[in-house]
This record gives sequence, C-alpha cells and structure tokens, in this order.
Amino acid sequence: MTKTPLDIHTIRRDFPILNREVNGKPLVYLDNAATSQTPQQVIDVIVEYYSSYNANIHRGVHSLSQEATDAYEQARIKIQEHFNAAQSHEIIFSSGTTHSINLVANGFSSLLKKGDEILVSAMEHHSNIVPWQMLCERTGAVLRVIPMNDNGELVMEEYSKLLSPKTKLVFCNHVSNALGTVNPVEQIIEEAHKIGAAVLLDGAQAAPHIKADMQQLDVDFYTVSAHKMCGPTGVGILYGKEEWLNKLPPYQGGGEMIAEVTFEKTTYADLPHKFEAGTPNICGGIAFGAALDYMNAIGFEAIAKYEHELLEYATSALLKIEDLKIFGTAKEKTTVISFNIEGIHPYDIGVILDKLGIAVRTGHHCAQPIMDFFKIPGTVRASFSFYNTKEEVDVLVAGVKRAKTMLQ
Ligand SMILES: *Cc1c(COP(=O)(O)O)cnc(C)c1O
Repeated sequence: MTKTPLDIHTIRRDFPILNREVNGKPLVYLDNAATSQTPQQVIDVIVEYYSSYNANIHRGVHSLSQEATDAYEQARIKIQEHFNAAQSHEIIFSSGTTHSINLVANGFSSLLKKGDEILVSAMEHHSNIVPWQMLCERTGAVLRVIPMNDNGELVMEEYSKLLSPKTKLVFCNHVSNALGTVNPVEQIIEEAHKIGAAVLLDGAQAAPHIKADMQQLDVDFYTVSAHKMCGPTGVGILYGKEEWLNKLPPYQGGGEMIAEVTFEKTTYADLPHKFEAGTPNICGGIAFGAALDYMNAIGFEAIAKYEHELLEYATSALLKIEDLKIFGTAKEKTTVISFNIEGIHPYDIGVILDKLGIAVRTGHHCAQPIMDFFKIPGTVRASFSFYNTKEEVDVLVAGVKRAKTMLQ
C-alpha cells in the first residue's frame, strides 16, 4: 500500500482536545461515531461570531444583523455545494438528524392514508424508527422492516419483494452507526423510485466519511448532523428535493416561517424559511460551513483512503485476540468496529478502557433491534476518525487484552 498522503501529526495539532489526558493517560478518542472533535479553525469561527458579529438574522437593518445573515446564508451555500444540491433553498437548517427526520415524518402525516406502507431497514438508529412508528399511529400506515443478514448487510432480495404500489416511503441509514455498514443506497433509491416511493437517507454516519452527491443519488431527503463531522452540536441539515419540500406542510409555527399573519389566515414563507421557524443556531450554521471547509481542505478521498487503512489495521489486530467477535462484517464498511469478548459484559470493558484514557462507546448504540438480532446486550464500539493513528489502535488493542486478563 502506498504511503498515506495525510500528515496526521500536523492534522492532530489542529485539535486541542487531543492533547489532554484522561485518568493520567493521554486521551485516545475512539468515539467518533457518537460525536467528532472540533478543530481550532472551527473553534475560531465560533469565537469570532460571538466576539464580533453576534446578531439575529434576516430581520435587522443594522450592520451586525446583515453580517450575521450573510455569513449564515453563505454557510447554506457551502453546504449546498458540498452535497451538490441543485438549489440552496433545498438545504434546510435544523438542530440535527433527529430534528430533520421528525420534520419529514411530521410532514408525511398529511400525505399518507390507512394501509400505505413505510419501509425501514433492520439496522436503524432509534431516531429513525420512533418517528415512523408515531407517523403510523397517526395515519394508519404500516411499518415494514427490510431484514439484514449475519454480516450486517441488508437482504436486497427481500427489499425488492417488500416494495409494492402500497409503499410510499423508504427510510434507511446511508451508513449504520452500530455496525459501520455502507448500505447500497443507489439500488435502494432506484428500486423505490420505480414504484413511485420517496426515499429518505439518514446520512449522519455517512457524511463524515463519504461526500454524498444529492443530484447523482437522486435521493428525495438526506439528513446530516454537524457534530459528527468536525462541527458543533445542535445543528444540522435536512436536504429535500424542492418538489417534496413544497408538498410537505410546515413543521413548527413561529417567526421566520411566515409570509403574512393575520388572525384569520397566515401564509407561509418560501423555502427554506417555511421550515425554519424561530431563531436558529446561527453560530452553529456558520461553524458547520467552516467544518466542511476544514474537511474539504484535507480532502474526502484522502480521508477515505486513510480511514480504510486504519479500519483494516484495527480489524486484523483486534481479531488476533482470542474470543473476540466483531459484529458488522459487511464488505462495504466505514471505520466502526463493534465487538464483544465472550463471557465479558461490554460495559466492564468500557470502564477499564476509560481508566487507560481510551474513549469507546458501550451499549446498544441507539440501535436496540440490531442487538436483539445478534442476541447480545450490546457491544464495545470503537469508531475512528481521520485524526486517529495506528499507534492509538495499538493502545486500544493492548487495553482490550488487559481488560480481558482482568475480567475473564
Ligand atoms: C448520530 C446519529 C443519529 C442522531 O443524530 P443527532 O445528531 O443525535 O440528531 C441518527 N442516525 C445515525 C445513523 C446517527 O449516527
């Protein structure tokens, strides 16, 4: 394999948090699928916003408000360009993926009728299951599940069989946060469109690793959370095709989303403001744009190549540990490794790793149905970012071995 073009040690200097110690040990941060760390370049944008042009947007005639509005709208355009959306008003700012999904689920209440069907994949995050269950309760629509196999891959023959003229919506994560599986989204979209169903992809876990192209995918809705890709928490987007966003009713009422209000009737603002009631996370939106600039300067191809190396290195090193089993062995994966050691509760491993300064996630990863499928209470999940190193993988492997000796 050729030498990685990423200069990881220079990149790591951009992330102040990576210098800290935890329990007297250098931090080894391997919980990137829960949230990523923030580079100084993004922190600077946040500090600059609050120190020099904090103001409410789209309202004031004063200069600060103009500056904040310009920066926020420029961020929207950056996001549009990054995801190659046809139009900037197809990018709706939200508080993140959960909010974006709820916006769509709420909107579909008026478009579904009893007996219509919604397909969801068997490997969904809870935020991608519960809103659809609520939607089904409201409308009488039926939720059906696209099954997966033991490798954590969707069974596409079953998907094809589930699709019918009753199917109105298909929901699937682009990448599974619990297993790392990259789903065959092109095929999912193509088959759904043949029978006239809309597709929403949850891109929260994909966006940090894969630059998704909205027009090429021809996807109807796509959701992203900034905090999983070097941005701040509490901000994200919903991408929606204009024709779909026009069909959906507003989600929340309030300021910013109206054209004209009287007590008799209110008319709604045009896209994207129709879905952006109230004062948004202005600073967060601007910082999200800065996070995309940061990652694009490194380059998504270089990131993907390096992360793939890390994944292979970590997978083979962990598999050398006796009794260790990896859940999620799909052919196409991002840098998530979910594992257990026979006879040891994942939580106990997590506690020992923390004492060694290693941050991993343990538990069901907001995807309980996946754990039920494998008949396990949860897993230890190590998830890597482009700023992680092979040395950190070695620290993890040594830590897991130590936990095994202590606990087994
Ligand atoms: C993190 C995550 C979510 C939830 O994102 P929030 O930012 O908490 O709204 C949804 N789906 C997947 C696949 C995720 O990884």
